[in-house]
Amino acid sequence: MTTEIAKSAPTGLIDRFGRRITYLRISVTDRCNFRCVYCMEPNQRFTPRNRLLGLDDIARIARTFVDLGVRKIRLTGGEPLVRHNILWLMREIAALPRLDELVITTNGSRLAALAGPVRAAGVRRINISLDSLRPERFRRITRNGNLDSVLRGIDAARAAGFERIKLNVVILKHRNHDEILDLVQFAVDKGINISFIEEMPIGRVGDHDRAEVFYPSDTIRADLQSRFTLVPTTETTGGPARYYRIPRTETRVGFISPHSHNFCGDCNRVRVTAEGQLLPCLGQEQALDLRRILHEHPGDTTELGRAIRDAMQHKPQGHEFGLGANRIPLRHMNVTGG
Ligand code: SAM
Ligand code: SF4
Repeated sequence: MTTEIAKSAPTGLIDRFGRRITYLRISVTDRCNFRCVYCMEPNQRFTPRNRLLGLDDIARIARTFVDLGVRKIRLTGGEPLVRHNILWLMREIAALPRLDELVITTNGSRLAALAGPVRAAGVRRINISLDSLRPERFRRITRNGNLDSVLRGIDAARAAGFERIKLNVVILKHRNHDEILDLVQFAVDKGINISFIEEMPIGRVGDHDRAEVFYPSDTIRADLQSRFTLVPTTETTGGPARYYRIPRTETRVGFISPHSHNFCGDCNRVRVTAEGQLLPCLGQEQALDLRRILHEHPGDTTELGRAIRDAMQHKPQGHEFGLGANRIPLRHMNVTGG
């Protein structure tokens, strides 16, 4: 199967705007033990378990994408580390010979126990979400998260020998914008990277007016310059972030700015949901049902590969969301796979 797809697609996945798709994000579950106010509703409904892709289906999808030219896979969610047997899936994907790297995004709550096994399963880099260093505030933003377990998870990840650890921070005005300096200082003290993400209007969360809490990357950068020197770098991870180094530290600061600096022109990624929907674009509703194709063609990934290649021709030029836009994606971020 591998060779058949590879032979018929020597040039990889390229969309009609000439963008090469080399990066796949897979949401392995839409479930999560947190309910972050920018991601979910308090009473979020999850996909019935019998509609989720099996781990073997996810492994087949990952293998097919790698055969088609994908070189980096991120497992995300929902919370990837609450999925039963996730270590098995990590080992399967990490063993794909033509994959350059397997990485994950996690809320860190289960890392104190799992960081070592996740690293041993072949995960090379890890992103950990952390929006506050104050326990009460952390609980309010995540609606039920325990800061201490996440901090212990971050230390376990540092001890486990990941090639890179990065904190992901969503800043909301009047909720945590006064912690920007503290969070960067924390990253510097731990010798890890940090990225700030502008909140995206993905799904209705009912907690706040997204325009009211918007805190742009340029303002975060200006806040940081009161204490840190930020030196722009041309380093890239092939994604939308813009990076800065803080001299004499190990820390790189990134800014992901879907509102203030649209990043679609360089987009190299697609997503697969836990139900098996292939999403060519984070900010658009269109999807292709890979689960149906897999189940109609058991034991054969030729049709799956063909459908994935065709879907790239429908990848839109960019997302259309904006503050106040009346067309926002209905899917929540835990489904889409952030
Ligand atoms: N549960 C894991 C975690 O929180 O790291 C992985 C999934 S989560 C959906 C992935 C990332 O998306 C997190 O860093 C989270 O902060 C971010 N995120 C969730 N909803 C978002 C939104 N509406 N806008 C911007 N980032 C969001
Ligand atoms: Fe869970 Fe991550 Fe969404 Fe927070 S951002 S609710 S941790 S999936």
